[in-house]
Amino acid sequence: MSADDVIIVGAGPVGLVTAYGLARAGIPVTVLEAEREVVHSPRAMVYHWALLEDLDRLDLLEEIDRRGFRKDDYGYRVHGTGETLTYTLDALAGETAYPYNIHLGQDELCAIVLERLEDCPHACVRWQAPVTGLSQDATTAHVTTTTSDGDEQHRGSWVIGCDGARSTVRRLLGVPFEGTTWPQRFVATNVFYDFHAHGYTRSVFLMDDVHGAVIAKITAENLWRVTYSEDLSLPEDGIGDRVAEHFAAILPDDRAYEVERFGGYRLHQRMAERLRVGRVVLAGDAAHATNPTGGFGLASGLFGAFSLIDMLASVILDRGDHALIDRWAQERRKIFLEIASPAATRMKRTVYESDRHAGHATIEQWRRMVADPAAFRERLMFPAKLRSASPAADAVR
Ligand SMILES: Cc1cc2nc3c(=O)[nH]c(=O)nc-3n(C[C@H](O)[C@H](O)[C@H](O)COP(=O)(O)OP(=O)(O)OC[C@H]3O[C@@H](n4cnc5c(N)ncnc54)[C@H](O)[C@@H]3O)c2cc1C
Repeated sequence: MSADDVIIVGAGPVGLVTAYGLARAGIPVTVLEAEREVVHSPRAMVYHWALLEDLDRLDLLEEIDRRGFRKDDYGYRVHGTGETLTYTLDALAGETAYPYNIHLGQDELCAIVLERLEDCPHACVRWQAPVTGLSQDATTAHVTTTTSDGDEQHRGSWVIGCDGARSTVRRLLGVPFEGTTWPQRFVATNVFYDFHAHGYTRSVFLMDDVHGAVIAKITAENLWRVTYSEDLSLPEDGIGDRVAEHFAAILPDDRAYEVERFGGYRLHQRMAERLRVGRVVLAGDAAHATNPTGGFGLASGLFGAFSLIDMLASVILDRGDHALIDRWAQERRKIFLEIASPAATRMKRTVYESDRHAGHATIEQWRRMVADPAAFRERLMFPAKLRSASPAADAVR
């Protein structure tokens, strides 16, 4: 590995997309991943319309579109009464060339990007290479991985920590992860069940203070994601035993369902105190973690990656000022703290903490908004606010 390489820690969606963007720009990248393959646990699956333009710019959209499916129908539903409001994204037509969201598991996005990286002469992905050490001087960052064959040293011009919410890179930098952890756990399940037969749109926010859930279609084959909440004090190893209990309350009938996989997750609203320390940068969940209601977690990570690719390419290829990375860091912190995290908190409360009265009030509010085209369009435009205000491609290239 040359000292000019960019080292990316973590082959999750943010690490891989960042690696691909840099490699396409001609910058040598090495991805170091702890696991033997991409992590397949059920996680992000929604790509908001505002992300699609950037994914297209990276030439990834066509394949994402082919493997996933477009979706523009949503519903809010009061669990206790069945009162429902549905809407579409039609009002975005004229605002964007992509007036729809795409559903595709984030592991599938990773698979697409990995295939692309295989064709990049400058890119290398090392599996089973957990990063355990980090140091830096004025010109070079040094990374240690610990494998079954012992420790290996790597060096690069920059290191990007994309190693998730429990980031080792962040810990090795000594950067605090400020914020709070919720007293609930989310359980994400992938389940075969025919929600369409009950008139469900392909994304439904089921509002209830006990049985709240986000229900969304994952594949055309009637595989759905049902994410519900339970108390964090319940034992983690009993999640599987409790799934049936939750489904008995959430599903509209007792017809057979088949759980394909499930996973329990702790929930945070946290932001790293700094996103850049010398030649080391934090991105994705390593930089900021949010509860996933509304799908602003990966969206924030990807928007950060898109602008980081341009900023870092400018610094490396055009000998741009390192202050560009500081500017990126400040902007991403501000967007997360002032826009993404508060919105995700509001969404979580709406879905998982609404009693019948509050659920009804939410539906009334949406009804009024849908009837006011300007207000409704403004609401649908929200995901665009997570994009860096100064798209680096325009600002620095
Ligand atoms: C239930 C659930 C549903 C979600 N739904 C959505 C959604 O619909 N939309 C949305 O936008 N977001 C959603 N999110 C959030 C989304 O999953 C995360 O934001 C996303 O995974 C972050 O990607 P990442 O690449 O930053 O980190 P990760 O996906 O966590 O990847 C980190 C990678 O780093 C590796 N790693 C860790 N430590 C090391 C080390 N020491 N050395 C080397 N490698 C290491 C890990 O093995 C992993 O491969 C959801 C999250 C959950 C929990």
